Amino acid sequence: MPGFELFGDLERNEVNDVLKSGVLMRYGFDGMRNGHWKAKELEKELQNTFQSKHVQLVSSGTAAVSVALASAGVGAGDEVIMPTFTFVASFEAIMMLGAIPILVDIDDTLGLNPEAVEQAITAKTKAIMVVQMCGSMANMDALQSISNKHNILLVEDACQAIGGTYNGKPLGSIGDLGCFSFDFVKTITCGEGGAVITNKKEYYLNADHYSDHGHDHIGNDRGAETHPFLGYNFRISELHAAVGLAQVKRLPEFLEIQKRNYTILRDALSQIPEVTFRTVPEGGEESYAFLNFFLPDLEIANNVSKAFNENGVDACWNYYNNNWHYIRKWNHLKDLKSLYSISEEVKQGLEYLQTKTFEESDHYVSRNISCLIKLSWTEDEVRNRASKMVEIIKSII
Ligand SMILES: *Cc1c(COP(=O)(O)O)cnc(C)c1O
Repeated sequence: MPGFELFGDLERNEVNDVLKSGVLMRYGFDGMRNGHWKAKELEKELQNTFQSKHVQLVSSGTAAVSVALASAGVGAGDEVIMPTFTFVASFEAIMMLGAIPILVDIDDTLGLNPEAVEQAITAKTKAIMVVQMCGSMANMDALQSISNKHNILLVEDACQAIGGTYNGKPLGSIGDLGCFSFDFVKTITCGEGGAVITNKKEYYLNADHYSDHGHDHIGNDRGAETHPFLGYNFRISELHAAVGLAQVKRLPEFLEIQKRNYTILRDALSQIPEVTFRTVPEGGEESYAFLNFFLPDLEIANNVSKAFNENGVDACWNYYNNNWHYIRKWNHLKDLKSLYSISEEVKQGLEYLQTKTFEESDHYVSRNISCLIKLSWTEDEVRNRASKMVEIIKSII
């Protein structure tokens, strides 16, 4: 996945354009910037890449999720349905708005289980947030039907699935709003950065204003702009956007390398009858950023994971005991450890976490191994890695 592996002259040249003018801010200073508008250019590129009418760059993927939800009016006391297997950013972004994260089970896609989503809908549900984990996707048709039927928003966190598609559409462009991260370890990086994409002009304008203190961005005198509503600062800088501009042009190359490396590993592991793979919904194509596979049980998965580590097969994880990606270890959320007081509404809204169990998620996450697909591997290195992985798994099963 990580675009940083292939950081080079293209990226340096784009950054140097910005350094030469010294205008590090994406808005204003028209006279000083030698015609360089890296953030604007990157937004245009991303409109093409994600086949989306509108793109708003922001400072991170986490900011993208908050800005997307805020732009569609999600706020205090609203419930947002999200998966148990994701990144901590999902609940952080929801709670920042005073909204309530409602965690539900995943299925063998490693994404939201549509039945669990349907069961979790209440009168307070404002949005379903699907997270396209590890380069693939949840059952989008089913989720879209539920969102239509109940008239609730479908927001897509595609931070880990840049370049994946569903029925020919880029992941992130299927829901009402899509979110991306360009942090240092994502498929394309800005260093830090993110984007909100949408086809709805109203949401876009909201995102544009909200991420810059409510500025309306009309005219070219920043000081004279009006503020139609309250906002914050989630701006990306020109320096970060410059890196992303170089990286996005290389995305087709990155995806091709990912697919080649993924296919070699998958073909090798397919020879082991006990190894199975996540379900990719019909019509879906992964971004190949990760290879995910299931082993027969948690003990085997733990042993394989340990043996991989000890034998130089890096970047493979079993997320069952992981602090970042799975509900089991999110004690700071369950215990509501917060620096500042949290509203009674949110406290009550999260009480279910004391008792709710997630057997189906446990069933899949405990047996899953997720291997990052690197861009810098040579073909020989991938083939050696593949044989080593097969050897290790066979010796444990
Ligand atoms: C990386 C990531 C984010 C957050 O992105 P940042 O840019 O690091 O804030 C959100 N969701 C998922 C699924 C991610 O992988």
